[in-house]
Amino acid sequence: MSTGAVRIRPDHARATWKPTFLWLLTSQRWTGPKPINVYVIEHERGVVVFDTGQDRASVTDPDYFPTGLAGVVFDRLARFEIAEDETLPVLMQAEGFDPAAVTHVVISHLHQDHIGGIADFPEAEVIVSRDEWDAHRKAGAEVQGYMRDHIDLPGVSWRIVDFEPTADPLLADFGGALDLFGDGSLVVLPTAGHTSGSISLLVRRPGWAPILLAGDLTFDAHHFDEEHIPGIGSRRQLRASTKRVRALRARLPGLVVAAAHDPGAAELFTAAISDPGGLEKGRP
Ligand SMILES: [Zn+2]
Repeated sequence: MSTGAVRIRPDHARATWKPTFLWLLTSQRWTGPKPINVYVIEHERGVVVFDTGQDRASVTDPDYFPTGLAGVVFDRLARFEIAEDETLPVLMQAEGFDPAAVTHVVISHLHQDHIGGIADFPEAEVIVSRDEWDAHRKAGAEVQGYMRDHIDLPGVSWRIVDFEPTADPLLADFGGALDLFGDGSLVVLPTAGHTSGSISLLVRRPGWAPILLAGDLTFDAHHFDEEHIPGIGSRRQLRASTKRVRALRARLPGLVVAAAHDPGAAELFTAAISDPGGLEKGRP
């Protein structure tokens, strides 16, 4: 499901020679609307939400965004359209999910369009990587896209993850992993780049092709296939993580990379869960 739509700068979706500050301050163009994807996964041991979308308050509350330099950055970065019925609780209820029943929320990174719904899951543990947690508390974090006012909220039960070495040889080169339920079906992997603490969630279920919920590691599966990295983040880390995921796909044939803002993600996801042949090599 998607909490409304976002338009970004073309240089954001796909890096060009221009450094971030240059296109951010000079670009006159917006992309077409892109989704702000949230994934809900039912597991026998809990209900897991991956990313929580953009808060509708960002389009209704004039005080949502900071003022000053950070305000300029947020203003030039993205345009959101979020209808009344596109808040995460409404979207979930429409699909028959009770937000109060969610046990785990995995946050790819702490930017606004991924943390918008964290307060909607009071019963869940909200998982974030140690690097990401530390990044949002650093001086100057706001101009890097972190709004502490909307992250450090009362009632959110954060679980800050230090990745442990994994015994799964398929995943060894990620330098650590978090197997959410200990059965290999949902594995959090560090995929630094867009931010230094960005993570992805590998989903492996019988009868499905393996899926990597990749947050903002890429903005489009076609860009990913062509090794075009996004225009925000560390290019070195983005290239390294992209290479690692591509190597994983060689070991897990049929691996679907589902990005948070890929207009084609829903279609890819639907194909993955209706592809009975895609999983055999991906079984944990
Ligand atoms: Zn995003």
